[in-house]
Amino acid sequence: MKPRITEKQLRRFYKLLSVKMIDFDCGAICAPKNEGVPYCCDNVSCVPILFREEFNWHQKNGKFWQRMPPVNKRIKKYIDESEDYYVFSKCPGVTGCKRTKRSLNCMMFPFEPYVNKEGEVLGLTQIDGDSSDCPLTGKPKKDFSPLYISNSIKFWRELFKLYPEEEELYINETKKRERRAKRRGKKLRIFREG
Ligand code: SF4
Ligand code: SF4
Repeated sequence: MKPRITEKQLRRFYKLLSVKMIDFDCGAICAPKNEGVPYCCDNVSCVPILFREEFNWHQKNGKFWQRMPPVNKRIKKYIDESEDYYVFSKCPGVTGCKRTKRSLNCMMFPFEPYVNKEGEVLGLTQIDGDSSDCPLTGKPKKDFSPLYISNSIKFWRELFKLYPEEEELYINETKKRERRAKRRGKKLRIFREG
């Protein structure tokens, strides 16, 4: 399979997303409610996904990331049904975490792109549903770094040029989130630049 993200582009993506999103340790808020493990670092209930090129790139520099074995039916289903450019993975866990080794997926959580039907990234929104276990999903915009928001928007715009499938995915996700918010009588929170 021909690589779609070059190492140069990966380094740029990592630089963009490694800007601090918030200036407090959010893991200290959610970990006590999840047996001491931050919700997004619990590799079984929230399985990290790496892009294939990203996974291969990490493999050149050690074994921090391993392929996630199909440890339960839910994970097996994810692996079987997902795009072939994803690698479901596991890390050493919070005690062995290294900031520079975090995946794009780790660095973007709990944000997703907010995309209109033409595929333009207008801002970010936050995941909902099961992931409402993440206390950051209720925090006001002022708690998040404007540079992080702007970098993350840049990241998604550039990624969509490499992965049109991701653009399609998030056009649909945005529509679904809008519908869910409307059903709840709420307005979807959008984090725009500036
Ligand atoms: S992003 Fe959310 S789930 Fe992850 S450590 Fe921070 S508060 Fe916890
Ligand atoms: S690499 Fe670090 S931030 Fe990412 S899931 Fe593992 S422990 Fe959490």
